[in-house]
Amino acid sequence: MESDLNCNIVSCGAVLTEEAITTVCSHGFCANCANQHGLLGRGSFACPACRKPLNESRVCRQLLCPSEEWKSMVLCGLRPTVIMECAGRAPGFWSYQLANQLLVTLCLPAVLACHVERGHVC
Ligand SMILES: [Zn+2]
Ligand SMILES: [Zn+2]
Repeated sequence: MESDLNCNIVSCGAVLTEEAITTVCSHGFCANCANQHGLLGRGSFACPACRKPLNESRVCRQLLCPSEEWKSMVLCGLRPTVIMECAGRAPGFWSYQLANQLLVTLCLPAVLACHVERGHVC
């Protein structure tokens, strides 16, 4: 299953191809939005998508097209059980992202129509 990862700031929605700033709560952002919402700083801050409390150890800069060298080295030294645990958790991020994208695709037009009907500026 191949799909694009989009920035989880709905008003941005940038397709992430080079890198993503990901969080422990399974959200992903472009570097611009992550920077604007303080995810690249130190201290405490909230996830801009779900408001979960975060700090720098709960945010990760991921290269989305890692080099062969990176792939060869990133898991070196880890026990096979840890490697399998990491590999098992990663698809959970994608399942969550795909479910969210489906929700946005289905619900956003209805939300926008509601705002227009009520005279709100989106
Ligand atoms: Zn963004
Ligand atoms: Zn979050």
